[in-house]
Amino acid sequence: MLALHGTGVSQGISMGKAYVLRRGQADISQYRIPRQLLEQEVQRFEQAVDTARTQLRRIRTRIPADAPPETASLIDTHLLMLNDDMICRAPLAVIREQQCNADWALKLQRDDLGGRFARMEDPYLRAKRIDVEQVIDLVLHNLVEPRGANQDIGSGSQILVANDLTPADAVMLTRMRMKAFVTDVGGPISHTAILARSLGIPAIVSLHSATAFLRTGDHLVVDGDRGVLIAGSHEGITSEYRRRRHALVRMRRELAKLRGARAVTRDRQPITLLANIELPADLKVAARVGASGIGLYRTEYLFMNRQDPPSEEEQYRTYARVVKAFADRPVTIRTLDLAADRQVDGASVGPGTTNPALGLRAVRLCLRDMSLFRPQLRAILRASAHGKARIMIPMLSSLEELFHVLALIEDTKRTLAREGKRFNRRITIGGMIEVPAAAVCADLFAAHLDFLSIGTNDLIQYTLAIDRLDDSVSYLYDPLHPSVLRLIEGVIDAARAARIPVAMCGEMAGDPHYTRLLLGMGLTEFSMHPSMLPQIKNIVRHSELARLRRSARKIMRAGDSALLRRLVDKINENPLSAG
Ligand code: PEP
Ligand code: MG
Repeated sequence: MLALHGTGVSQGISMGKAYVLRRGQADISQYRIPRQLLEQEVQRFEQAVDTARTQLRRIRTRIPADAPPETASLIDTHLLMLNDDMICRAPLAVIREQQCNADWALKLQRDDLGGRFARMEDPYLRAKRIDVEQVIDLVLHNLVEPRGANQDIGSGSQILVANDLTPADAVMLTRMRMKAFVTDVGGPISHTAILARSLGIPAIVSLHSATAFLRTGDHLVVDGDRGVLIAGSHEGITSEYRRRRHALVRMRRELAKLRGARAVTRDRQPITLLANIELPADLKVAARVGASGIGLYRTEYLFMNRQDPPSEEEQYRTYARVVKAFADRPVTIRTLDLAADRQVDGASVGPGTTNPALGLRAVRLCLRDMSLFRPQLRAILRASAHGKARIMIPMLSSLEELFHVLALIEDTKRTLAREGKRFNRRITIGGMIEVPAAAVCADLFAAHLDFLSIGTNDLIQYTLAIDRLDDSVSYLYDPLHPSVLRLIEGVIDAARAARIPVAMCGEMAGDPHYTRLLLGMGLTEFSMHPSMLPQIKNIVRHSELARLRRSARKIMRAGDSALLRRLVDKINENPLSAG
């Protein structure tokens, strides 16, 4: 038996047989091809490219009707790249000139292109490196294992084990109804994680060596809650997980009944529960669980896996669709946070960007590149004519930045008015508090904004100086660190003093372990992945605010982290049943 630990990114427990997807970076060695066999080697390469083309086209025709609309364009992008001379022709010259095997020639081209993309200044182009490598890996795989592993995935009762997943795999997963998936790499907001959550299947990322240790056919248990993967069958463990899975299914069924129930505490304090969405397709889940609105719409997903950024028109149509779907409820559209999310996807960055999380991301990038920012602001403002759209600015760290954005919004409004375009002149504008500088000065920001939203994912990484993507320091990632709690409390107080609403939209807001503490600290708006909403609503309905306030005060005074943790466990103690 073997247990591997990673990051659980989609809840639930699954058991089944492994299907290990291997491709690309298999050990590739160089060998010399005799001159008389060179043309045969060239043909072998061309055959592998042809097979990759056929594979992608086949996947393209099998996209299920309910797959996100972006899916087809992801496959098209890969097909276009495959037809580029840099991928389908350049290796031919290498084979002939260096008299080497086709896989080695393609590997050299992969390294060369990877390096070139990594050195690009434009973060958007730099991020394209992942797509290029995925396309090359598909061809490499066809060279190394000519049968093509992608075609071998059999039934929907399997658990997919992969190093990482490509958009093409994503489509296939949707189609094959895999039971769960686990990957060596990836972060909690990588494509893999997002996909798993939208599919509602358990998933673990960042297992490091799953593909090295596991074989197709191994018996696996995936515990998406705890991020634990168990390989091998042991009757005691399997039956324990079976029992837990039944309990989970029963609990979900009970929680689903809460859809129409109000999120109100025992002492009748209403709490607002909002949904975080990445793609318009997530709207369905948000509506199903009865979210009071969208507290965070991560628009950067609209910009990924495609050749060009979406036009103003495309953005307008997409945002308007979301805003209309939530008609009378707020839809908080966050302006682009592109660079950060590409890093989460695992794109390595080139020289000059040693600390990408501290670099040109989010609002910094937008203020630098108006060709990205202006069309987005215009699109959001135009979408505001159809409902309650709100603008949210990520990563604010200085007031000057905020003033700059506010002036741009005003300028955009004037232009739209001149053009006779409809928009909400009094659109609500909020800022994310996710940099310690902004948290410490939350009162200064609150004075110029209509609402605040605490982004704990970044706030914690910056406060504790731990890269949220770096596994080697993830043990230090601690939402209960007194410094984090003090910053959160300060932001809640600043918003209250300025009489503006404050929400929390980081992962902490959707983690049941912290709900009662946050309620006690005075937080009344929580925004989370919609799948977590019923569970959080249940906790709210079983909590008494007056008591939690007293407990929270005690917790805030506890300097010793062991004591602090005991106190938090204590307020979570009394049992919950749905209802
Ligand atoms: C956060 O930082 O908490 C947040 C919600 O934004 P993201 O995770 O997209 O950086
Ligand atoms: Mg953030």
